[in-house]
Amino acid sequence: MSAEVKVPGQTGLILNEDLLWERGRQGRSAMSLPESGVPKASLPAEVAGDGPDWPDLSEQQVARHYTRLSTWNFGVDTGPYPLGSCTMKYNPKINDALADLPGFVGAHPLLPAEAVQGELSLIHDLEAYLAEIVGLKATTLQPGAGAHGELCGMLMIAAYHRHNKTRRTKVLVPETAHGTNPATASMCGFSEIQVPLGSKGYLEYATVEKLMTDEVAGLMVTNPNTLGLFETELHKINQMIHDRGGLVYGDGANLNAVMGWADLGRLGIDAVHINVHKTLSTPHGGGGPGAGPVAVSQALVPYLPGPRVVKEGDSYRWEVDLPLSIGRLHGFHGQFRTLVRAFAYILTMGADLKRASELAVLNANYVKEKLKDLYDLPFNQSCMHEFVFTNAKQEPHKVSTLDIAKRLIDLGFHPPTIYFPLVVHSAIMIEPTETESKEDLDAFIAAMRQVAEEAKNDPDILHRAPLNTFRQRLDDVAAARRPILTGDMG
Ligand SMILES: *Cc1c(COP(=O)(O)O)cnc(C)c1O
Repeated sequence: MSAEVKVPGQTGLILNEDLLWERGRQGRSAMSLPESGVPKASLPAEVAGDGPDWPDLSEQQVARHYTRLSTWNFGVDTGPYPLGSCTMKYNPKINDALADLPGFVGAHPLLPAEAVQGELSLIHDLEAYLAEIVGLKATTLQPGAGAHGELCGMLMIAAYHRHNKTRRTKVLVPETAHGTNPATASMCGFSEIQVPLGSKGYLEYATVEKLMTDEVAGLMVTNPNTLGLFETELHKINQMIHDRGGLVYGDGANLNAVMGWADLGRLGIDAVHINVHKTLSTPHGGGGPGAGPVAVSQALVPYLPGPRVVKEGDSYRWEVDLPLSIGRLHGFHGQFRTLVRAFAYILTMGADLKRASELAVLNANYVKEKLKDLYDLPFNQSCMHEFVFTNAKQEPHKVSTLDIAKRLIDLGFHPPTIYFPLVVHSAIMIEPTETESKEDLDAFIAAMRQVAEEAKNDPDILHRAPLNTFRQRLDDVAAARRPILTGDMG
């Protein structure tokens, strides 16, 4: 612990913050209780001992510590957050307020169906709305995230093939796929066949057709793909996969681009997860909780996880007699309050969901067009809700994609996604979302233009950025290999 006195402010309102362990002083406490009248009893040997070395702190120290830390955070409520693939859009607070209704918060998951008819009707209706939005037949709300939805979908596809007594051991996965796709295929016992990207940035029928054999269980496809491009040949590809006995899993992470515009059922998708924390307004970025409901075509309805809510007359009950179901995927009924937010968002938006997708696509194209003179655009065409630049025009000045991202922090913007998708060298993946105003988009464009100018004229600034933050450029490798967890910076 250092003896020197630090002033609280360093740059304006960014306050110095020691760890609580460094602030603790023996004997401080956040409470004072009257002396107990009950004699002391000692704990059993297994649980006795000194316990963790918690610091002694006053209530005020704890309150100020966490309040100050909260001001270090950057979130969608602070400013634009154009993190490609993640759909970091603003989430209306009404959805939180509705998820906080005491009836939802207080409902115990083991209550009998008669006592939770309201919750069951929400589950029933939300499943129907989600199926309607993607154009499929039925939905399960159990999966706890997109990746968990993939697991659910691929387990259903495996169960379908098992039931139909066809032995299929491989899955086609495009090389633009999110890493969770091949990982999921592998967890479900399939081996992955990577499908190379076509020259225009989307899958080509001829390529997929050559790889589709009777050992292939199906295709896992993201549409629009992670380059922000609509899979133009997907309808034909999916028909061919079905003709040869396969099924198609859709990664729905990019649904924000196509709500009300693309009917995934008619496109030939058999199962799709919906990242409600991306598309349907749940705050995310801190690790959750999210939810990844999965909607399915008729072929997969019998395999949906159970139990399922069914409506009989005016009441709802749990159906447990589901002989082909893959079983339970989640304790109880999924991330319920996250699902309440999605339900509230869908009801408040109604047909404007279509408008949200339209504006998400418009905003992305606006930003792309305003910047493509200064940044390399490997697939130069209309995009959906996001697009991918590279640092090819900054590379001659020895400016990396990471340098560009770090400098944006100085200028007040959360950086875009970088180095993903892997098929594009040094990718910068920008997704502005529909909730940013034109002024905020213009400010982001101005910041990106300033960075491109600096790359030419003053690349050293970019190599050292961020310069205006509490901590400057970190040594990522040392941070991962030799983390200092005690706060003692030596
Ligand atoms: C976010 C994302 C996933 C994984 O979803 P989680 O909800 O984070 O588990 C899968 N695929 C793509 C394309 C994504 O963007």
